[in-house]
Parts: sequence; structure tokens; C-alpha cells
Amino acid sequence: MESINNVLIVGGGIGGQSVAIALRQIGINVDIVEIEPKFDVYGVGIIQQANALRALDELGVADEAMNRGCPYAQVKMCTPTGHQVAEVGTPPIGRFPSHNGISRRILHEVLFERSKALGTKYQMGLTVNEIKEKEDGVDVVFSDGNIGSYDILIGADGVNSKVRSLIFGDYKPNYVGLSVWRYAFKRPKDLDTGYMYFGKKSKLGLIPMTEDTIYMFVVSAEGADNPFIKEEQMIPMLKSYMQEYPVAMVQDLIDQVVDPKLVNYRPLETLSLPAPWYKGNAIIIGDGAHATLPQLGSGAALAIEDAVVLAEEIEKQDGTSAIFSRFMARRYERCKMVVESSERIGEWELMTFKGKQLPEGVNIGAEMGKTCMALTQPI
Ligand SMILES: Cc1cc2nc3c(=O)[nH]c(=O)nc-3n(C[C@H](O)[C@H](O)[C@H](O)COP(=O)(O)OP(=O)(O)OC[C@H]3O[C@@H](n4cnc5c(N)ncnc54)[C@H](O)[C@@H]3O)c2cc1C
Repeated sequence: MESINNVLIVGGGIGGQSVAIALRQIGINVDIVEIEPKFDVYGVGIIQQANALRALDELGVADEAMNRGCPYAQVKMCTPTGHQVAEVGTPPIGRFPSHNGISRRILHEVLFERSKALGTKYQMGLTVNEIKEKEDGVDVVFSDGNIGSYDILIGADGVNSKVRSLIFGDYKPNYVGLSVWRYAFKRPKDLDTGYMYFGKKSKLGLIPMTEDTIYMFVVSAEGADNPFIKEEQMIPMLKSYMQEYPVAMVQDLIDQVVDPKLVNYRPLETLSLPAPWYKGNAIIIGDGAHATLPQLGSGAALAIEDAVVLAEEIEKQDGTSAIFSRFMARRYERCKMVVESSERIGEWELMTFKGKQLPEGVNIGAEMGKTCMALTQPI
């Protein structure tokens, strides 16, 4: 292949839009196909640690994300009664603070506006049904029957990636026995940074999204069989978890949990695609290759970093196989470290919520600290 000029990205989420921006910045033509007919990003927030902000800066949007989100310091880890036991999270990197909390919808808008301004072409309500490898590129058949021809294809279609299954066959995400409940609130006046409370049946976090808003997450163990939670169960169950924390900041929120449709409930899964994450001229990035538990608040950060690194390697224009192989060398161990660390933390939380004793020497805060510190290393 002469050079990579024409790229198809499948999936317009955080990873897909990030790689579109990174490629447009170096003048490469980009088409995104997104399966949803229109973007409808749910309104709870997302934590962007300093390494995520550093990667967003490479895309020209870190300041916009901080202006429209809420930078904050390390997270205070507390007992259920509010006694602080540690501070966790990636330390600041250069001018980037330890954390930026932001609404998912706003992060999506920030990426979308930049990507559109740079000339990315979006096609909504579309996916790929077939991928045909060629020596010098890929041909695809889209779900509307049209065909396309590209130098490379990037699968950024999330944990249940269709591109992954078309290229590599069947890999199923691994449900770990934990679930998360999320809800957005007005910001309590005493909330000066992120907070995490560790209880016996759950873990509860309060994360700033703007000067005026926060979101809460509660991690719980609902059962090995991943039971279906009916809508009418949402509010009573979430409130009963919140009762475990007798601190004013949590208690004051309980009466504000009123709309079951605003309770965002989700079982937690991981996925590790074995290396390499590419075949021929197609490659998987983001959750489709390495979905972590949210325990380290780093999945999106990894997807954004993937985007930055892939574009840096593509810019060298020395052949797809050399580009993809260097991408793997820079990404595989780092992503594996985060997935595995999140799985360890998840396993220990599950033991706690089931009333089991943690093995001697286990310290969840120390595990988080070690992994967050490792993420400050350059990508
Ligand atoms: C409960 C929870 C909390 C989290 N909290 C954090 C956090 O605080 N900080 C953090 O950094 N990360 C967090 N994450 C992880 C983060 O959300 C993911 O790592 C990130 O969204 C991955 O981006 P992605 O682009 O790979 O996939 P996605 O964001 O899932 O995007 C995939 C896109 O592809 C589209 N798509 C799907 N299938 C197809 C198809 N067949 N064809 C075309 N398009 C398709 C989807 O509609 C979507 O737009 C959390 C995850 C969970 C589950």
C-alpha cells in the first residue's frame, strides 16, 4: 500500500470520534458509520483522569472538556460514616488536574463538534455487514447494501463489537457479578471534590460534573445470574443501598431519587481480546479490544489514548502491518494492566459485598493508587 488516506471508523462513541479527530488533524479522510439513528447519550457523568485530559489535549479539546465539566482533585476514600481513609486517583500531570468530571452527553458534544469542524463524515443508522480483506485495503458491505472501499477499517463499536466478531469470531464480555446504579443530582454545597464511600453491601461515589451538578454511582452485587431488575424495583433498591451511608451528603440525596427512568442500572463486564487486535487492514480499538470495569475510571481514557497513538503511528505512513504492530507494542501491556487491575478490585469488592474476608494484605486503595500512578507514564 502506498499510504493510508481513506479510513472507515465503525462506531461514533468516545473511541471512534477521538480517532476521527486524530486522523483528521493529520489530513486523513474519515467516514464514521454509527448504528444508532441519532446520538442519544445518557446524562450521567464520566470521570476523566489526568491521563485522559492529556490525551484529549492531543485532540485539541482538553480545555473545552474542562470548561464544560468540573476539574477536581483526588477522590476522598471514606468509611460509610464519612471518615477519610485515603485519597485516590491519578495525580495531576503538568497543567492537568487529577480529575475532570463531565456529563457524558457534554463529552460527546465536545468530541462531535471538533470532529465535525475538522470534516469527519458521519452516517447514522448504519453498520457494516461484511468485511472483505484485500492486499491493499478493505472492502465493506454496509447494512443498507452499499459497498465501500477503504485503506483501513477501525472497529470502535464498543464491548459487543460487531467488527470484532466479523474479524475474530465469537468473544463474549465477562459479567463479573457486580452492577452499577447511577443517578444525577444538584451539587451538595459541601462537596469539594470526588468522594467514595466503602460499605459492607455496596460502594457509593459522588462525582462533580459541573459547579452545580454531580452524579452518584453505587456498585453492588445483584447475583451471579445477573438478575433482571424491574423498573418498579429501581428506586426502592437504590435508596436501600444509600441508607447504608449515614453521612449527611448521602442522606440528603435520598429524597431526591424520584424518577425510576433516571436510574441508570448496568451489570458490569470486562473483555480482553488477545493480541494482536488487528488482522490485515482492520483493527479494533477501545472497549471492543479491552473493556475494563469502571472501578478505575479509565476505560474511556484508554480509548482516547488508543486514538492518539494509532494516529501517531499512521502518520509515519510506513505500511499497515508496521503501523499496527507498533500500535500493539505501545498499547497492549498498558490496557491489559488496567483491565486486570480493575478485575482484581472488582473481585475484592464482590467478596466484601458477599461478607467474605479479604485475603491478607489486600488493600483496594493501594491497588487503585498503583494503577493510577502507572497511567501517568507517557503513552
Ligand atoms: C458504568 C460505567 C462507568 C464508566 N465510567 C467511566 C469513567 O468514569 N471514566 C472512564 O474513562 N471510563 C468509564 N467507563 C468506560 C467507558 O464508558 C468506555 O471505556 C468507553 O465508552 C469506550 O469507548 P468506545 O468508543 O470503545 O465504546 P462505546 O463508548 O461503547 O462506543 C461504541 C459506539 O459504537 C456504536 N456501535 C455499536 N455497535 C455498532 C455497530 N455494529 N455498528 C456501528 N456502530 C456501532 C455505539 O452506538 C456507540 O456509539 C465506564 C463504563 C461503564 C460501563
